[in-house]
Amino acid sequence: MGQGIQQITVLGATGSIGVSTLDVLARHPERYCVYALTAHSRWELLAEQCVQHRPRFAVIGDEKLVSKLNAELAKQGCDTEVCSGLEALEQVSAASEVDTVMAAIVGAAGLLPTLAAAKAGKKVLLANKEALVMAGGLFMSAVAQSGATLLPIDSEHNAIFQCLPERYESLDQAGVRKILLTASGGPFRQTPLEQLKTVTPDQACAHPNWSMGRKISVDSASMMNKGLELVEACWLFNCTPNLIDIVIHPQSVIHSMVQYRDGSVLAQLGNPDMRTPIAHALAWPERIDSGVASLDLIATARLDFEAPDLERFPCLRLAIEAAAAGQTAPAVLNAANEVAVEAFLAERIRFDQIPHIIESTLGSLALTEPVSLDVVQDADQQARMLAAQQIKKSE
Ligand code: NAD
Ligand code: MG
Repeated sequence: MGQGIQQITVLGATGSIGVSTLDVLARHPERYCVYALTAHSRWELLAEQCVQHRPRFAVIGDEKLVSKLNAELAKQGCDTEVCSGLEALEQVSAASEVDTVMAAIVGAAGLLPTLAAAKAGKKVLLANKEALVMAGGLFMSAVAQSGATLLPIDSEHNAIFQCLPERYESLDQAGVRKILLTASGGPFRQTPLEQLKTVTPDQACAHPNWSMGRKISVDSASMMNKGLELVEACWLFNCTPNLIDIVIHPQSVIHSMVQYRDGSVLAQLGNPDMRTPIAHALAWPERIDSGVASLDLIATARLDFEAPDLERFPCLRLAIEAAAAGQTAPAVLNAANEVAVEAFLAERIRFDQIPHIIESTLGSLALTEPVSLDVVQDADQQARMLAAQQIKKSE
């Protein structure tokens, strides 16, 4: 890790996590300097971010946008070098000048660039949970082999990380009895079941507590997000799914908890603002200002808890089953979910069809041991094809 000012690459800079990351970085110019910013298609926002943060490199996903981005940067007198493509994403993740990579691309597209950072031994701030869901075993071995530092950005996992001892050999040795993974229950926690057939993408994306990208917002509404987080937690904290209990906590003030053998339960609380886990991971083991206001407990007044309803949220049931099945089941689940969510956002299928598509995709594919990236990517591709076929059939 470099001394002095830390050089940061932000993968997915134009997304919800990316923007929050840049907000925290801008508060600490004496600590951080931006090395590279990446975006898929929002070149205008990327240009603005380059003008403000002056990175060495900007990577834009769509090659056709390179000239537009270059023209805008030239106009603004910004000498950031523009590249595009997967190789460029991997390069800005693995470059020797880089200390820390914020992995905030959404979905399976984040796997290879995030893995490149892990293999290069970077400090990896992981928001892209799908990378761990698809290829957790391979990812964790890459981290172990390179000596990378992996810090969770997902608020629940960041909370669990904060509630665990700084060093421990295993959760059992640390005296952990259970991890309590909290979930808000999303916008449809109390919606009459019949109405779930007619909810719109905008209703699904109107999360009661968090403002996030559209894919993760739909995942929160279906509670697939909690299922993906269950798999993510198993890899991050090296445990089996039965060590993790999911608890509905509608206020999203407690971000998760760890229950110890002696009966103690440690929780991390805060306002629902991703700049807290981002600042925590950026500065760890130090603490820096994140721009987030202090939690007002008197205004919060109460904290409620309830058990998750697997009938209301079949996506959560499917994810729990896939976590228990292991092998390529989580990768298949993730791929089918990405395709189904995209179709729902494009208003090609109904919200309640998402779990059906995932379930029949899981039922049609034989599981294998994810021993290599090829195996994982093959399972991902097959699941995408099958899910797409079913969506077509249902139209
Ligand atoms: P978002 O949709 O707001 O942003 C996604 C980013 O990824 C954008 O910068 C986009 O340009 C980039 N991107 C999209 N497709 C790409 C592709 N094919 N190739 C390269 N780049 C691509 O998403 P978000 O809400 O910021 O979430 C990002 C990740 O963080 C997700 O994995 C999500 O699960 C995780 N996460 C988000 C939050 C949150 O509060 N938003 C909380 C926890 C975890
Ligand atoms: Mg989360």
